[in-house]
Amino acid sequence: MNLSKYPIERRYIAKRSNTRPGTRLTTGAPAFFVAHDTGNPSATAENHYRYFNTLTNRSASAHTFIDDRQILEIIPTGTSSDPAEKAWHVLYNVTADNERFGYNANDAALGIELCYGGNINFQQAYQRFVWYLAFCCNKWNKDPRLFIPSHKQLDPARKIDCDNALKSGGLTLKDLIADVTAELNSIANTPVPVADFTPLPVDLALALITEYVRPAWAKARVADKQPEAEHFHRLAVNLRAAASIDDQLRPLPSAIKLHKSNVQELVFRWLSPAWYQATAVKDTEAAKLAHDRANALRLAAGLPIS
Ligand SMILES: [Zn+2]
Repeated sequence: MNLSKYPIERRYIAKRSNTRPGTRLTTGAPAFFVAHDTGNPSATAENHYRYFNTLTNRSASAHTFIDDRQILEIIPTGTSSDPAEKAWHVLYNVTADNERFGYNANDAALGIELCYGGNINFQQAYQRFVWYLAFCCNKWNKDPRLFIPSHKQLDPARKIDCDNALKSGGLTLKDLIADVTAELNSIANTPVPVADFTPLPVDLALALITEYVRPAWAKARVADKQPEAEHFHRLAVNLRAAASIDDQLRPLPSAIKLHKSNVQELVFRWLSPAWYQATAVKDTEAAKLAHDRANALRLAAGLPIS
């Protein structure tokens, strides 16, 4: 995923026991992420910052508010060097969080709020919400399918978020989890596939063609064995392609994996007899050459060496 797709803004509310007690999460780093919506259509992240910064008459808060323009952390989450602090976003007496995660959400989880409704562009806000959840899953190595409960899942008797805001955009919690998972797995974070073969050294490809393939081709031509001549011609083409060169020795964009059958043929027809012959006359150097050439061919086909 792109770790800097959106800026994460931080403007913390004042410490106060009913909103931001200033104590660290019991788990240190966040252990899961509760997906909320504000239940307050049209109110922005900025509106919620102001509300919670001055709230005195009840215990409530959350860490992060996301609308169509910003991702705003109003209580430290640990996404920066500021360690994650507790917020009051799930009632202590509900038990689904304890059963599922072994902790009260307030002690162990981030509360992440989707702002929606009114003038808030749902798609813009939703994309930021998805990205931020993926960012958190990436940072703390959590599987989105396991570690993003909705508030409704934790407190189904009282709560309908964030499913309710998602519904306003025609989506479900299942869609959200799938989108977070896709974001997490998106291209930038996916390791570049490693080639499963080693290109053939150019000098080896040319040596095999000169010593074995071309003479065999010439012999087939002289004997008027056209299919055989064509076969050796293709073998030479494949050897050059495995060494990433064309028939004029110009470099190709990339090497092409050698066919397993080409390796078998080259070893069976020429390299194995060369090895036996060298061994019989105790020519260790020639035997080693044949052996090394066979292994280079195997690597060029992605086969194990012997
Ligand atoms: Zn909630």
